Amino acid sequence: MSDRRAFLGIAAAALGGTLLAPGVRLIEVAQAATPAGTPTTGANPKVRWGLLIDTTKCAPGCNDCVDACNAENGLDPRPTPTSAQWIRKIEIKEIKTGRTASVPMMCQHCAEPPCVDVCPTGASFKRADGIVLVDRHSCIGCRYCMMACPYKARSFVHEPLADQKPDVPRGKGCVESCTLCVHRIDRGEKMTACAEACAKAGHHAIVFGDLNDPASEIARRVRELRTTQLRADLELDPGVRYQGL
Ligand code: SF4
Ligand code: SF4
Repeated sequence: MSDRRAFLGIAAAALGGTLLAPGVRLIEVAQAATPAGTPTTGANPKVRWGLLIDTTKCAPGCNDCVDACNAENGLDPRPTPTSAQWIRKIEIKEIKTGRTASVPMMCQHCAEPPCVDVCPTGASFKRADGIVLVDRHSCIGCRYCMMACPYKARSFVHEPLADQKPDVPRGKGCVESCTLCVHRIDRGEKMTACAEACAKAGHHAIVFGDLNDPASEIARRVRELRTTQLRADLELDPGVRYQGL
């Protein structure tokens, strides 16, 4: 068997025996079927979940949101440079004025997510309620999405995993990022772990809610106050907005 035929055989086996007709791309096969284990139940198309982060209330040096995210999702509580991190704190300084701000950064749950566009298997996907996720069963670890994400929001799992949370499945060799605490949302809860920890610390810098509900606090504040989309020039329409930048 030639090397090329051997390669095609392996590719077909990886697709569960599917042979691609000429002109059919892997992404089209992936999009035609919902991947096994894809957590789409509970996604309401009328809702768009998002976060509003008030940087004027975020305390420099405070890491409570990061610690809460790590604990909630079974991530390394003492991350090394190669550990997965779904939220990180960035301290920024405006050169002209010297003004500083402390900015929690996570997946921005873009309405037009480039990570989804480049994924060759359809593992990166956006739910009907705006949450962008990775299906670990169909992620092949190619990391195209990590290169496509302008926010550096995604991590690759290098190490074997232990003590996983039953409602937050993860996998070595997969890419992952903030899920907006989707397991909580699908249980009907209305608070992410990071927002909860921030409120518990008395800062109240993170608001979670439905951007489509005009009566929600997040929608009201986005409507009435000056808020910022990071890299708005890219026109990705992120579901995470910032106040005070
Ligand atoms: Fe995808 Fe990055 Fe946007 Fe999240 S922030 S949806 S990982 S492009
Ligand atoms: Fe982590 Fe949940 Fe906050 Fe996302 S919403 S950064 S998964 S705690």
